[in-house]
Amino acid sequence: MSSFLTLDHVNVTRQNVVVRLDLNIPVKNQHISDETRIVRSLTTIKELLDKEAKVIILSHFGRPKGQASAALSLAPVARILKQHLSCPVSFADNCIGEAAAFAIRHTPYGGVVVLENLRFHDGEEENSPAFAEHLARLGDLFVNDAFSCSHRAHASVVGIGDYLPVIAGRAMEAELRALESILTTPKRPVMAIAGGSKVSTKLELLTNLISKVDYLVLGGGMANTFLLAQGQDIGESLAEPDLVPQAQAIINKAKTNNCTLILPEDYVCPEESFKIMDIGPRTVTRIQAAIDDCKTIVWNGPVGVFEVPPFDKGSVALAQYIATKTQTNGLISVAGGGDTLACLNKAGVGAQFTYTSTAGGAFLEWLEGKTLAGISMLLSGGKRS
Ligand code: ADP
Ligand code: MG
Repeated sequence: MSSFLTLDHVNVTRQNVVVRLDLNIPVKNQHISDETRIVRSLTTIKELLDKEAKVIILSHFGRPKGQASAALSLAPVARILKQHLSCPVSFADNCIGEAAAFAIRHTPYGGVVVLENLRFHDGEEENSPAFAEHLARLGDLFVNDAFSCSHRAHASVVGIGDYLPVIAGRAMEAELRALESILTTPKRPVMAIAGGSKVSTKLELLTNLISKVDYLVLGGGMANTFLLAQGQDIGESLAEPDLVPQAQAIINKAKTNNCTLILPEDYVCPEESFKIMDIGPRTVTRIQAAIDDCKTIVWNGPVGVFEVPPFDKGSVALAQYIATKTQTNGLISVAGGGDTLACLNKAGVGAQFTYTSTAGGAFLEWLEGKTLAGISMLLSGGKRS
């Protein structure tokens, strides 16, 4: 990946810095169930505050589809953010126009203003130039610290860069460096582990990985379609028989690319049926031996129905093995995906991987080899002054 500007390259002191964050935190029954996204945003915010910038925060929240809605206001999120900071934090009930300008004018340098949900305006998701220009008027510089939103060509991710210089925040920087270290310039040999329920959702991912990695491990429901392609009986297991030709093509491509494909050689089923729910102990041992040979591992998708014990055993065994190798042998390990991270946490090793990506769709698109619209804008540097 070519270079991008970071907070090391710009002077932010007494500047109005517009920061795009992902504060779209999960809310269940009006209670915030997970503050991870807020916590991950603090590094950039605090550095800007230390440097006496005025921090103007933009985010979306839920899917209001262009309509203001009290239920999807960012005001409660701003209150939680305030609890993590020791500076003044104010809130404006519109992300553009006079309300925003007034709040910004009355925020001191070294202070924070959170602006209302971007998606209350249609222009955000439409990437409307007029709306992007309104956003750009809020400040002097634009910091993108929302990797998880950077696969979307929205005004607060892409359009705003036509009017302001674009700089990576610290969380963005960390995510991009971690991603580069697994596929762009990895220490080899590199292994990818792909699991999950269906091949159909991961075909592009597999096709991209097969040409980049030395080992491709397939598990989960997805692997069943590959077992079918090899002519094996898989009983009542979840599979997509219509995708057997694509699975066969990936098996062939592995051979021509010198990529070692590891498929389940034994499995775990419920007592009453022949339904593959997890990889078996021989497969776990086979994968662990291959891990011993690797310097880099990227993982998306549990290799079994980890939500239902005992079918979490294979995924948990792999997670713990990779965590130990990361801590003791300098293995570089990166994992992403909602269920994958839930699985690592279940195994008690979420913090022991080199990097865990909470970026969901953006992480997957990156693994698929796609160019993310917001990252292209970041690499361009935005408007050069
Ligand atoms: P992520 O959210 O990390 O991207 P996925 O959503 O692709 O991961 O995959 C997780 C899902 O795959 C889990 O719900 C898990 O139960 C399911 N899964 C894993 N192995 C199997 C299997 N053998 N049969 C059916 N579903 C499976
Ligand atoms: Mg999932």
